[in-house]
Amino acid sequence: MLSYQHAYHAGNPADVHKHYALAEIIRLLTNKERGISYLETHAGRGLYDLSSDQAQKTGEAAEGIALLDPQGTAFADALSIVRTRYGENAYPGSPLVASSLLRPHDHIVLMERHPQEHAALKRAVRGTGAEVHRRDGYEGARALSPMEPRRGLVLIDPPYEVKTEYEEAARLALDIRARWPEAAVMVWYPVLAAGRHEALLSALVPGEPLVDEVAFALKEGKGMTGSGLAILGAPYGTEAAMAEVLQRGQPVLRRPARV
Ligand code: SAM
Repeated sequence: MLSYQHAYHAGNPADVHKHYALAEIIRLLTNKERGISYLETHAGRGLYDLSSDQAQKTGEAAEGIALLDPQGTAFADALSIVRTRYGENAYPGSPLVASSLLRPHDHIVLMERHPQEHAALKRAVRGTGAEVHRRDGYEGARALSPMEPRRGLVLIDPPYEVKTEYEEAARLALDIRARWPEAAVMVWYPVLAAGRHEALLSALVPGEPLVDEVAFALKEGKGMTGSGLAILGAPYGTEAAMAEVLQRGQPVLRRPARV
């Protein structure tokens, strides 16, 4: 099994981009009383401690969330709920961003394959009503689509430890949309100097994604120069929400030079 652990990266600039955007899109999808479904294929452990050895080792949160005041953003509501419960060093992964903002009549399914991450995730979302599966997210998302209620959001956030994962993630996004057209599907990807993400974006073209990329400098970025989100079936208002994310994410997030 591969060894990616998100605890080393929680709260970094890429997380800021992804989690701010996720919170804004959930806010758009929940502006009507009707329930929604939320599915994650690669959920991680859900809750991170920014004072942990892993977080301190990379110092990535110090280059990300620590430099920002999220007050007034949708993400701030999730952060506040999580910090009230777990303390000032707590940081919500995407499952806790979502479960903090969703309502009791929304349907949440989270998939995580790694046994320890899965066990931690179960603890982190206990009492929220979220279903947690120890499962391959590629297989699981195809098996569960479409979910009820039909209006919903799927987050695909793989570790991209192997090159083939870029095209695999794109294929999954298109497959989910074919099975479940009412769902928005958001794929996160790293923007790499090596340009590997271009394969993902080319494969996604038939799904007409809304693509939002931001740039940042990470001391130990290992070739990652920015963060991208490709959103298929984006709800009305997403473009404006992404502009807000960029604005509120400054000075950590910057507009990429080529846009
Ligand atoms: N979405 C999380 C967040 O924003 O807080 C971070 C997820 S992290 C980037 C990717 C996670 O996917 C890791 O916890 C890893 O164990 C898990 N993973 C890797 N391959 C998987 C697979 N095929 N199915 C489900 N989970 C997988």
